[in-house]
Amino acid sequence: MARFAPLAAAVIAVAVFILDTLTTFDIAIAVLYVVVVLLALNFAGKIELVAIGAGCMGLTLLSFLLSHGHQLPADSIGRCLVSLAAIGITTFLAFRVKAAIGILADSEQRYRSIFLATGVGILQMDFTGLKNAFDRYKSNNVQRIDDIERREPGFARSALKMFKLTNANNTALNMFNAPNVGALELLLPSLVSEDMEGKVWKLLASLWAGNQSYEAEAVLKMSDGRQLIFLYNVAVPFDRPALDMVLISIMDVTARREAENELHAARSQLAHVARVATLGELTVSIAHELNQPLAAVVTNGGAGLRWLKREVPDLTKVQSSMESMVADATRASDVIKHLRGLSVKSPPDPDNVDLNEVAEETITLLQREIDINQVSLRVDLAEDLPKVVGDRVQLQQVVLNLLLNAIQAMAHVPESRRELLVRSSREESAVLFSVHDTGPGIPPEISSNLFDPFYTTKPDGMGMGLSICRSILTVHGGGISASSEPGAGTTFEFTIPFNREIG
Ligand code: ADP
Repeated sequence: MARFAPLAAAVIAVAVFILDTLTTFDIAIAVLYVVVVLLALNFAGKIELVAIGAGCMGLTLLSFLLSHGHQLPADSIGRCLVSLAAIGITTFLAFRVKAAIGILADSEQRYRSIFLATGVGILQMDFTGLKNAFDRYKSNNVQRIDDIERREPGFARSALKMFKLTNANNTALNMFNAPNVGALELLLPSLVSEDMEGKVWKLLASLWAGNQSYEAEAVLKMSDGRQLIFLYNVAVPFDRPALDMVLISIMDVTARREAENELHAARSQLAHVARVATLGELTVSIAHELNQPLAAVVTNGGAGLRWLKREVPDLTKVQSSMESMVADATRASDVIKHLRGLSVKSPPDPDNVDLNEVAEETITLLQREIDINQVSLRVDLAEDLPKVVGDRVQLQQVVLNLLLNAIQAMAHVPESRRELLVRSSREESAVLFSVHDTGPGIPPEISSNLFDPFYTTKPDGMGMGLSICRSILTVHGGGISASSEPGAGTTFEFTIPFNREIG
């Protein structure tokens, strides 16, 4: 159509000119030049458009002069002026339209360049199918997405099929190694493994709630076997509640996460080495402290034996040697008591501690560990929890140990089943705090050794965590216990009485 527009415009211009010049109808035929101007919108630029408008007006005047000669009847002048005004106004409006189209095209071009060339992968998706499915559930009185999750666990996977990819920029195509948008659309659902269904439900919950933005990280297995970590944001433009245009921006953060993880691993290794070094130092100092009284026991024992072996044993000397031995052994025992006291001192600064706060702080400290291990965390803290008298730092150490053990215990459980539940509640005279994990549980044969110092089943464990927890809780007048069904996870529970003074 656009190709023939100049020809059509020229033919119409000539036809109008001939009709206008040769016929004597009482109508303003020249008004038809506006069709020429409108056709010119398709092929002419702004300047050409003005020239064509001016040309049409010129032809109108020429026809007028040719057909009327020196007689200028008033009605003909009127018709000519009407035609000139119509052509002039149409040209002016066409000029404005042309200018607006130019601005629009420039802006379109600019956004297109940004879309195509930006370093962030952008997927333009159409979620209309999902929106329709949501509307059907809502009209059937389904109030919460959890109800669908419970009744139809397969919905997450079928929802993925309702996502239509309408466009993708070059960065996104390169990220997924797809030659074009069609190939990427086919590829996308296969990248979402079963482990990731929990994440799909979270995205669905956000869309169900009508949120305009959802951000998360996903680990995707590429077709070449590589595992890449993506940070993605799902944005629903505010004027698209029908979800017919949803923009997903994606960044490959694999290298960044790997560097962070290496740093994290290096830090924990350093902490471990530091702990082992401290333990080494402690061992040396224990050996040193104990060596002296034990050597004295041996010396006094030897002396006592010699006095006994005499032909006439000197019982007074034997008695004095044995008394020295008892004194030395008591010293050795005091050294040990002193060392134990050092590891778990009485609270230096007893304080009123809010265990909920301690739990929240500890969770914040461990948030990275929780994320890296893809553990899904549920926190259920009692609102009316009384404060307990105790040492905040020590109690934080207890919670930290229990949470770390729980996270480590779930290392070999599939990611979708790693659940950590942290609860607190008020009992009759004590605060009860529990940490439940969905790890492998504790085999009955080791349950009696759990709280023993140096008991560990981990290749790099020290086996001091639970033993220290128990000592700390004993000092706080409380206790700790573990319950577990093999295969169904473990719960560690501790209690601390409230309304008590600590000594
Ligand atoms: P470590 O963590 O250094 O091994 P701990 O005293 O904290 O020392 O734990 C002792 C042992 O108790 C662990 O090696 C592990 O076998 C077992 N254990 C602790 N917590 C859990 C748990 N949540 N699930 C299963 N086993 C656990």
